[in-house]
Amino acid sequence: MVKMLKAELHVHSNFSDGKDSVERILKTAVEKKIDVISITDHDTIDGSLSAIEFVSTEKLPLIVIPGIEISTRSGHLLAYGILKDVESGLDMRETCEIVKREGGITVLAHPFDFLRKGSMKVGNFKFVDCVEIFNAKSYFNFLAKRYAKRFSKTGIGGSDAHTADQVGIVINFLKTPEKSSILEAYYNGRKQTLRERLSFLLSQTNPKS
Ligand SMILES: [Zn+2]
Ligand SMILES: [Zn+2]
Repeated sequence: MVKMLKAELHVHSNFSDGKDSVERILKTAVEKKIDVISITDHDTIDGSLSAIEFVSTEKLPLIVIPGIEISTRSGHLLAYGILKDVESGLDMRETCEIVKREGGITVLAHPFDFLRKGSMKVGNFKFVDCVEIFNAKSYFNFLAKRYAKRFSKTGIGGSDAHTADQVGIVINFLKTPEKSSILEAYYNGRKQTLRERLSFLLSQTNPKS
């Protein structure tokens, strides 16, 4: 039977401008019965590294997808599946290429939201794998959705939580036979890379709030 995993893909901790610690965020996620979480701090992967460590030492029933929100020269870019920092201030295309080379996948964060430093250039849609079409804090989701469709990009949703109690405001339902398949999946007898697995999962995503 296909179970839908609940994934929260956009959270800031006090490793950047979030109010709460990674520990507090993860415990809240478990209380809210979230299955998958990504800590996406601004320009640092440290929140994600600390989340991976905490989940493993505390044996929490939670899958951590490593994430970061990179400040490119032309707007915010979410990247998943990489384990190191990416330089900020580069252009969108170059940043996407670096993430891809590291095996990660890229998501245009809250495009057209100039208040949140979203990308204002339509041309940037072609460099990314996915688009955040529903950001809980943005008034520009209708435009994000319209252009994601025009460029045939998968849409994902994000709470853009800056406190633990905002975790889970926007949930993505990931279709997967079981939890472990996110981290250890075989496809046609061949082990998939994290990039392939995340792309597959996110392509099946169904954001709800
Ligand atoms: Zn942002
Ligand atoms: Zn954010």
